[in-house]
Parts: sequence; C-alpha cells; structure tokens
Amino acid sequence: MIQFNIVEIFESLQGEGYNTGMPAVFIRLAACNLKCPWCDTDFMSYQSMSLEHILNTVSQFQSKNIIITGGEPTINKKLPLLLRALKQENYYLAIESNGLGTVDPLIDYIALSPKFYYRHQYPFPLQRQADEVRIVVENHPDFLTFCQNIEQHIQARHYFLSPCEQNNQFNMLTTLQYLGRLNQNRHNNKWLLSIQTHKLANIE
Ligand code: SF4
Repeated sequence: MIQFNIVEIFESLQGEGYNTGMPAVFIRLAACNLKCPWCDTDFMSYQSMSLEHILNTVSQFQSKNIIITGGEPTINKKLPLLLRALKQENYYLAIESNGLGTVDPLIDYIALSPKFYYRHQYPFPLQRQADEVRIVVENHPDFLTFCQNIEQHIQARHYFLSPCEQNNQFNMLTTLQYLGRLNQNRHNNKWLLSIQTHKLANIE
C-alpha cells in the first residue's frame, strides 16, 4: 500500500500571497531540501498515511481547494500519485514550493518562494514558471539583485516581498525600503507586499 509521510492536514484560510483569505485544506508533507534559519515548520514530525486515509481525511472538510505544502513537497517522489487521486475528486490544487524542483503539471496554482539564504542554488531554479513568487526579505547588499535575477528567471503573474519574522519581530521597514527600490520607475507588474496574515489572525 502506498504511504505518505504527512505532518498535518487541516482546513484554514490561505494567509499570504495573491490568494490571501481563500479557504483551503492544507496537506503538509514531511522533509525539505533546505534548512532556512528562520523556518518555523517542524517538517520532521510526521505520521505515515495511506492514500485512502489522506483522501478520507480531506473529504471531511468543506473546502474543495487543496494547498500542498511542506517542508518541500516537490522532493516527494510519490507526490504525482497523490495529485492524480485528488484531481479525480475534482479538487483545485495549489502548491507552495521553494522552486528548486519541478512542479507537477496537475497543479493549478504555483506559489514559489526562492530563498535568498541559499542564493547560490538560484537564480537557475528548475521551475521557471509560476503564478506567484514570494521572497522573504533579508537585509543584505545582494538582496535586490537576487530579486531582480529571480524576476528574470521565473516568469510569474505576481511578485511579492514578505517581511521575515524572527523572535516575533518583522523586518517591516527593511521590506518597505526594498519594495520601493524594486518598484522605482515602474508602472506595471509591480512587486507587492505579502504579510503572513494567518499569524496576525491567530489561525494556523
Ligand atoms: S524551504 Fe521552507 S520548509 Fe524548507 S527550511 Fe526553508 S522555510 Fe522551512
């Protein structure tokens, strides 16, 4: 029987990016190929679940939107099997990925979050197309160039900067300053602000 390592499955609202507020069922897969210093996801506490168990759990919730997240979901070699089964049940499928792997064509909405901390592994990510790109802000002389390179190499409909949270502090001023510099002299296709509103709303 096919088993998946699942950290959690829960229903909530998308807290960030273009789909902020969208009701969705989140499927959090275990494991990641990066180790970001600010990461607050315990992606190595998981349980093994069969495909049937996952489908049954998901069907208990109201929303027909699924957000596949992690960890890093694209490193899971069995993911296409799960996606195919969910598609057969007519779910809308979104994914949150760091962009270092490729995203399955069954995914309806791709949100990529390239990591400046691992900038030497970018700007040539495997996934070159997305619906949105979200970059967590780090105060560094190379950060602006990183964002511009990512914009050149990943074609997306929306680009966001997200303030970094560490010890309950957001680097909001730095984020606003970078936004202003990225959008200087631009009228279309602007970089926008994305805040982790689920933390402010105290939801998962
Ligand atoms: S890529 Fe995401 S899940 Fe992985 S370590 Fe970084 S923040 Fe955490």
